Amino acid sequence: MAITSINPATGEELESFKELTAKQLDAKIALAAETASVWRRTDFGARSKLMHDVAKALEKNRNRYGELMTREMGKTLASAKAEVDKCAWVCRYYAENASGFLSDQVIASDAGRSYVRFLPLGVVLAVMPWNFPFWQLFRFAAPGIMAGNVALLKHASNVPQCALAIEEVFAEAKAPQGLFQTLLIGSDKVVKVLEDDRVAAATLTGSTAAGASVASCAGANIKKTVLELGGSDPFIVMPSARFEEAVQTAVKARTVNNGQSCIAAKRFIVHKDIYAKFKAAFVKAMKDLKVGDPMNSATDIGPLATKQQQADVARQVRASVKAGAKALLGGEPLRGKGFYYPPTVLADIPEKAPAFDQEVFGPVALLHRVKNIDEAIGLANATEFGLGSSVWTNDTAEQRRFIDELEAGSTFINAMVASDPRLPFGGVKKSGYGRELSPYGIREFVNVKTIYIA
Ligand code: NAP
Repeated sequence: MAITSINPATGEELESFKELTAKQLDAKIALAAETASVWRRTDFGARSKLMHDVAKALEKNRNRYGELMTREMGKTLASAKAEVDKCAWVCRYYAENASGFLSDQVIASDAGRSYVRFLPLGVVLAVMPWNFPFWQLFRFAAPGIMAGNVALLKHASNVPQCALAIEEVFAEAKAPQGLFQTLLIGSDKVVKVLEDDRVAAATLTGSTAAGASVASCAGANIKKTVLELGGSDPFIVMPSARFEEAVQTAVKARTVNNGQSCIAAKRFIVHKDIYAKFKAAFVKAMKDLKVGDPMNSATDIGPLATKQQQADVARQVRASVKAGAKALLGGEPLRGKGFYYPPTVLADIPEKAPAFDQEVFGPVALLHRVKNIDEAIGLANATEFGLGSSVWTNDTAEQRRFIDELEAGSTFINAMVASDPRLPFGGVKKSGYGRELSPYGIREFVNVKTIYIA
């Protein structure tokens, strides 16, 4: 099967790649395993130098990598370049902090001396999505490699050029051969890699269905996994919120990355006292967004990443409107070249509508009106997902309730949900398990080894 790169702004094919043969795949796994046996013995000084060099290689090629992302998956050029910067940040963050995060931890016991040492697991397979084609990989690879592991990347099939460019970043930083390799394979080959005894663990960022499939194979082979899956994050606005800031942030939080972010705010749950005002201001601001060529600096929203994405969003919105939801704005894909979908706002969404409980991966906002905080929390939690949550209130008693009662991996108060190398990132319920980033992220793919010296 060919792995093809298509420009979503035009629908034109950019380049097509042959999948690895079974023999080529085996050779790459063998090289990874060989490198893992050497890399695990390096000290933090050597790993840190490499990770600083990776950050430099990213920054040196910032424009080229930014343009590549925009061409291959349609995010705006400004956001693509910012993504490269964020990757450099996470590399430096772990280059500077990994040795502290993984230093021996003394624990008193009956022993003369007892402590914990954090040792690498070996080769880790990363199965990654296309939406942040550099960032998703680097937020795993920077801590993973600093912990002494080796990475194999199976990237989404629509971003092979980004996948190869990331391999180039490590080569430019003069990483040992085999420390980071891209595997151009389809998702049907993931099981084969996971079942291989030379592969120790896997991390997957993607849909819940893909996560379940990888986790079941890893489970059958008793291998550790981290899963970062879908989300349908609530954005709750209460009467005490700073109104203008809440509206502006709501628009940004829904449309970041052309609406294709796991932690995008998707369900806007607004108190009845301010609902009408919020609805009017929000629809107007969504309407003002400029949809167009993602290379153009004036563009707010580029195309969706694939034709399939566009069709999926169109189907969910049409079925929701048919079920009784009201389209206050947008609601149909744009005609013409490319996979564009306009900013869309749905209100009065009945429970039977797909948009009520499915993740909608495009610039489609779902408005809900609630009577009080109990109803807001109940509705926010009425989903199988539990990734992020954003709450807008200046009432401290309300803040406390949201912090304790929202079922999510994070609650941001008076701010939009965003990932940050210093803070743990991950979900609960069907949004996955395990954490990335921060000291927690680097301890996912290590052997927490107990040392007991009598
Ligand atoms: P996807 O279709 O699940 O694909 C993600 C990756 O998994 C791709 O590399 C894909 O390969 C692979 N894959 C798909 N099915 C598989 C299977 N059965 N076995 C093994 N691998 C499989 O997701 P996507 O459409 O690329 O990304 C959108 C989803 O990712 C959304 O649900 C979004 O919320 C989620 N996401 C979550 C986070 C987070 O941090 N929680 C971050 C970003 C995105 P192919 O491309 O070859 O199919």
